[in-house]
Amino acid sequence: MERMRRATKTVWVGGVPVGGGHPIVVQSMTNTPTHDVEATFHQVKALYEAGSEIVRITVNDEKAAQAVPELKARLKDAGIPVPLVGDFHFNGHLLLTRYPRMAEALDKFRINPGTVGRGRHKDEHFRTMVEVAKDLGKPIRIGANWGSLDPGLLTEMMDQNARRAEPKTAHEVLLDAVVESAVQSYEEALELGLGEDQIVLSAKVSHAPDLVYVYRALARRTQAPLHLGLTEAGMGVKGIVASVAGLAPLLLEGIGDTIRVSLTPAPGEPRTKEVEVAREVLQALGLRQFAPTVTSCPGCGRTTSTFFQELAQKVQAHLEARMPEWRKVYPGVEGLKVAVMGCVVNGPGESKHADIGISLPGAGEEPKAPVYVEGRLYTTLKGDGIAEEFVAILERYIQERFRA
Ligand code: SF4
Repeated sequence: MERMRRATKTVWVGGVPVGGGHPIVVQSMTNTPTHDVEATFHQVKALYEAGSEIVRITVNDEKAAQAVPELKARLKDAGIPVPLVGDFHFNGHLLLTRYPRMAEALDKFRINPGTVGRGRHKDEHFRTMVEVAKDLGKPIRIGANWGSLDPGLLTEMMDQNARRAEPKTAHEVLLDAVVESAVQSYEEALELGLGEDQIVLSAKVSHAPDLVYVYRALARRTQAPLHLGLTEAGMGVKGIVASVAGLAPLLLEGIGDTIRVSLTPAPGEPRTKEVEVAREVLQALGLRQFAPTVTSCPGCGRTTSTFFQELAQKVQAHLEARMPEWRKVYPGVEGLKVAVMGCVVNGPGESKHADIGISLPGAGEEPKAPVYVEGRLYTTLKGDGIAEEFVAILERYIQERFRA
């Protein structure tokens, strides 16, 4: 399915284009203290290797600001070209002016209009940060967040709403205020001299329906590339499902140029999980292709043993293990479609739709497993070595089809 991408400007973040019809970018954020260069380096590396195309780090104090140039240098020495974004709140205007090497080392500054200051200080601090970006030719993300919304703006909008003949609910006004905060700051940054090709916008909330409401409104009002994601998706399955529920409708409408899935990792869970989920979302929606797709049925009472699940797992693990090498030598292999099916009901049909597929025998079926290649019966496997033989056929098929 071809989705209509919303027309946006292209903003270059380091060497990565965001918006302008370029592929939707996956990004993530570290949770190490930035002043701990060793720990942050390893986490940025892990996120990059998992597929994060941009990584954000907090720059929350002087120690963090001092560490940024060293972190950037270590990443460069290690051959890791991932753009680094500095996340600033409350003291960004001070840090960006006191630590010019830090400002220079970063590829983008994230500015939250709700945490740049209050009253007249708000405008001064915002202007200072935008001027540093302008002088250095860096892009910024104006990231409004309902958790840190400017209370002055919210009060003003609540008052205006109270005077309406048909007032909106307080919740709707709150969401409108998040949008308004992002748009007002965007316009202010343009007036201060930043180009449209230097500003990414976001307006984050925590619930999927609110995210859809807010980003539709934002998309109607600007052509800025949009950074999409729930601000606090939560943990585990809940966090993943909430993120997908919010992201999918918008992405399918062409809204969103870069995404982050903000999962709370369970103790011991790797930070890279959020990158894995973000990539799977884009791949499931047909918007990016990172790795071969394995279609497997859920199994049911017709599958008599765990053999079917084991084979599906084995094929998936084999693809994951081989992809780093295949990617280098077999261009286009990430578009491969593999089917591993449990019985004759949907097995042959689904296998024929894939590039290569196997249909295992279900309960009461003859113990044989037909293998289909590009829609045609290729061979029928039997006996104890079905899994190994199928993987060998898969290897041969990839070599023949994708050899450059
Ligand atoms: S393909 Fe067969 S085993 Fe798989 S879910 Fe359908 S009926 Fe069950």
